[in-house]
Amino acid sequence: ADRFKTELCRSWGELGRCKYTNRCKFAHGVAELRSIDRHPRYKTTPCRQFHTRGLCSYGSRCHFIHGETD
Ligand SMILES: [Zn+2]
Ligand SMILES: [Zn+2]
Repeated sequence: ADRFKTELCRSWGELGRCKYTNRCKFAHGVAELRSIDRHPRYKTTPCRQFHTRGLCSYGSRCHFIHGETD
């Protein structure tokens, strides 16, 4: 399957930069994420798992909000 820009770039998310710049196959920010793969309620609801446990097994692929910058 074509996963181009369907996931957030880990480097971008953790460091705020990425050595691949615009050649990166991952999305640099939610604005670059391809909406075709987004959940209808993508990032509209706080993640219960993240807010109760402080972490979420889905990481950046989670459809729910993890924080202020998410
Ligand atoms: Zn990147
Ligand atoms: Zn989550």
